[in-house]
Amino acid sequence: MSVPATETRGFQAEVSRLLQLMIHSMYSHREIFLRELISNASDACDRLRFAALAEPALAADGAAPEIRVDFDSKERTLTVTDTGIGMTREEAAEHLGTIARSGTAEFFSRLTGDQQQDSQLIGQFGVGFYSAFIVAERVEVLSRRAGTAPDVAVRWSSCGDGEFTLETVSRDERGTAVRLWLREGALEFADAFRLRGLIRRYSDHIAFPVLLRPDGGKGEYDRVNQAQAMWTRPRQELGDDDYRQFYRHVSHDSGDPLAWSHHQVEGRREYTTLLYIPAAAPFDLYNRESPRGLKLYVRRVFIMDDAEQFLPLYLRFVKGVIDSADLPLNVSRELLQQDADVQAIRAAVARRVLDLLARLAAEEPERYQAFWKEFGNVLKEGLVEDPGNRERLLPLLRFSSTIDAGAVPTHALADYLARLRPGQQDIYYLLADSLAAARGSPQLEGLRARGVEVLLLHDRIDPWLVMHLDEFEGHRFVDVGRGELRLDEIAPPEQAPPAPSMALEGLWPRVAARLGDRVAGVRASTRLAESPACLVRDATAAGPQLQRLLEAAGQKLPPARPWLELNPAHALVTRLNLLPDGEAFDSLAALLADQAQIAEGTAPVDPAAFLRRLNAWLLDPRMGTAA
Ligand code: ADP
Ligand code: MG
Repeated sequence: MSVPATETRGFQAEVSRLLQLMIHSMYSHREIFLRELISNASDACDRLRFAALAEPALAADGAAPEIRVDFDSKERTLTVTDTGIGMTREEAAEHLGTIARSGTAEFFSRLTGDQQQDSQLIGQFGVGFYSAFIVAERVEVLSRRAGTAPDVAVRWSSCGDGEFTLETVSRDERGTAVRLWLREGALEFADAFRLRGLIRRYSDHIAFPVLLRPDGGKGEYDRVNQAQAMWTRPRQELGDDDYRQFYRHVSHDSGDPLAWSHHQVEGRREYTTLLYIPAAAPFDLYNRESPRGLKLYVRRVFIMDDAEQFLPLYLRFVKGVIDSADLPLNVSRELLQQDADVQAIRAAVARRVLDLLARLAAEEPERYQAFWKEFGNVLKEGLVEDPGNRERLLPLLRFSSTIDAGAVPTHALADYLARLRPGQQDIYYLLADSLAAARGSPQLEGLRARGVEVLLLHDRIDPWLVMHLDEFEGHRFVDVGRGELRLDEIAPPEQAPPAPSMALEGLWPRVAARLGDRVAGVRASTRLAESPACLVRDATAAGPQLQRLLEAAGQKLPPARPWLELNPAHALVTRLNLLPDGEAFDSLAALLADQAQIAEGTAPVDPAAFLRRLNAWLLDPRMGTAA
């Protein structure tokens, strides 16, 4: 099949939209285009060095890896040239015509049309190559892939208006030159002083030389940056700004990170880690297939992106670099998986991240709160995935609580322990489908009356989480919806309910007989204060939330029959006790059981019958016998 020498293609629809949005919303930060182009040039040099490990000929011809920035103020052009891996014609069409990033569709669905909001989203998404169009009315990319002949190089060009043109051309040098024809308002970038400042500011950490000619003309090139891999420099030499700029390079996030940790480890295993906690969750945080992990280098040679072997899944939000002095250069993903040293480094990385989070929580609680909002539910997975670190993980958890009406979880377990009531040993929690359902649950009433705090768990992962919560600093976790609550040792309620009359003892078996298989039994409740009834599971049984989750996952549990607990102090229960056996008694007993079920977020077994009974009682409160 012969390829036409010149051909015009349309951008993927998303690219056109992104371009339009970016040109408008990023204009006030337009200088970031240079950082993006130099970042790509650096990636290309990294990739060439890696490819040359297996095939040294690839890097043998042509210049050493370097990045040149040239400009011509008369022609109004600015060119970023690298001697990296280069692109073939097809690669150029694919990489510079589509967006391959996972989460792209979701990203676009989140755009609101509100410029301010959208420009923040664009920053989170990462702007990349296309940011060249913020300052350029036309962009031309000349590229020759390492190892291909000079006459199959490619020229890609576009005015950013929906189409690009591809042409097969000849190019002596391997690598890529990206040339911008600057817009009227962007001529400031055709200036050595301005460019030098930007390179120093944004690209100092790049590991390859970035070269610039003082006058843009014919003279000698100067090296502008340090050209030393950022993470190899001593910590005391590096400022916050260095760390922030490098974060943008490794993360494709144009915002600032929340925190970072940089360690050079010596001894039996020698390696460096530079780990970042992003400020915002990526769009694909819950997609377990999406790329994650650190950039892996071996003795400063780039080996791979997304080396997930160095991070447990629940820390998939961490970005950064690991540089090992001990791994072989030809290490593969398979080898990494089996390597005992890698396992040890992975454990050390996890500890380091958890220590970083602990420090953040202690020293900057507001920033930690921001972290929890974005990543808390992912961190909870750690208790399931990494029980070895539970002592580190438990203090990092944050909960909603009955102590206040806050909408976001802010309470740590240590705070809870500090508020234990006299005589209280256990940590009480309640599971529900939403925070509102949790706050309204009748199961809280008895504890509330005693002034006992209850943690409110209402996230999807919480039913799993609680299976791994057994104790914290010697205090057991107790589900207020399961088992018998022993509240007697805790301070008595401020307003003692009237002592249940002995006459009610006969009621429990009568109700149990009426409800049959629906319940495991009927008993007086210590949990309730205002409501007449609630359902309670045995301490070892699965609660309704977990049961629903398992069912949704296609797993059928043997039906765990709940206990029906009735409130002896409630007028409806007293009335029930006064009714003789018969239709009215049956109807009211069923109504109370249905209410208890509704209160925990489940529909009554027979909704139509429930409504008939309810309406009958509403119309004839003395009888209610119609159902
Ligand atoms: P990202 O860098 O996040 O992948 P970009 O939009 O910056 O996204 O670049 C898109 C792709 O274009 C890169 O992944 C790479 O494959 C290709 N590319 C861009 N610039 C270069 C370059 N200078 N040399 C080789 N490939 C490049
Ligand atoms: Mg890029």
